[in-house]
Amino acid sequence: MDRMECMMKTHVYDTVIIGGGPAGYTAALYATRAGLDTLVLEKLAPGGQMAETMQIDNYPGFHEGIDGFTLGQQMQAGAHRFGAVTKQTQVLSVDLRTDPKQIETDSGVYAAKTVILATGAHHRHLGIENEDTLIGRGVGYCAACDGMLYRGKTVAVVGGGNSAAADALLLSRLCKKVYLIHRRDTLRATKVYHEPLMTAENVEFLWNSTVETLHYEARLSGITVKNVKDGQTTQIPLDGLFISIGRAPETAIFAGQIDLDEYGYIIADESTCTSIPGVFAAGDVRTKALRQVVTAAADGAIAAHYAEKYLAEQSNG
Ligand SMILES: Cc1cc2nc3c(=O)[nH]c(=O)nc-3n(C[C@H](O)[C@H](O)[C@H](O)COP(=O)(O)OP(=O)(O)OC[C@H]3O[C@@H](n4cnc5c(N)ncnc54)[C@H](O)[C@@H]3O)c2cc1C
Repeated sequence: MDRMECMMKTHVYDTVIIGGGPAGYTAALYATRAGLDTLVLEKLAPGGQMAETMQIDNYPGFHEGIDGFTLGQQMQAGAHRFGAVTKQTQVLSVDLRTDPKQIETDSGVYAAKTVILATGAHHRHLGIENEDTLIGRGVGYCAACDGMLYRGKTVAVVGGGNSAAADALLLSRLCKKVYLIHRRDTLRATKVYHEPLMTAENVEFLWNSTVETLHYEARLSGITVKNVKDGQTTQIPLDGLFISIGRAPETAIFAGQIDLDEYGYIIADESTCTSIPGVFAAGDVRTKALRQVVTAAADGAIAAHYAEKYLAEQSNG
């Protein structure tokens, strides 16, 4: 049976949502409440990036804050309550220009009249030798997730933005020593982080510095750092290295079909409409000014609204 024959036997959903973060599950909530037959495809647990943080203090309605994993579970439960269904599977490729649109996953092909792309973003890698080999063996990207493993140990954080500063601060409360390695001579992070980091006795700044080499045996044992001003290199013994140099959109599987900006984000405005009719982009994956839980959730609601509108226009001819 070829792919098209297989498709003809496949149930066609009103909307398939790729990604089960706050954008995806808010879209699912609004879509099912609008009566749309809705499927969410999520490769991991619900919550997306939120699940990596122990405390979200700026999502309205939780005056004492809430941990991201629980919020993700609750968003999923809210959407399921109205009939949305989740399939835990990884989307491998899509064909967004066919009718119905096709979504190929590691557990089969799904068909949909509309698709909401809510695949979010992922951690940027340094791109140095052995980085991938050492992930989970001393190299990490989420201090909130893995910091506890380094209690009482010596670690370094690479980066100068908000996530690097937040990671360094969190680790300074757990670890014996924290190096903060930044290629410039000042942090880009918001001022709120500066003072606590500067006054923490166990935090040492390595300004104008880049990580050149990862040393390891069974796991990471240290790094070589290079001062970009004078070229001097220094070896530092380490138990852990956290790389916090920002995020990149999760759009590789859509490239070539949908319009992306120079950084790989899906070009879509507040309507979430993309360059392909019936395809919407919600949350961190699209071009926008502020990537947060509240803006991702807002996008999800709008994407479902426009999906519903598109379906109504199609059925009215
Ligand atoms: C450590 C950390 C702390 C943060 N703290 C805050 C905070 O305090 N307040 C705040 O407002 N924001 C915070 N954020 C940002 C916030 O989490 C994101 O803006 C938000 O989660 C974006 O939601 P999203 O649904 O667009 O994407 P994501 O949360 O990235 O979700 C995308 C989902 O898509 C899935 N996916 C991707 N590709 C595929 C595929 N091919 N097949 C199937 N599934 C796929 C992913 O597994 C993921 O679950 C934080 C982020 C991080 C990393």
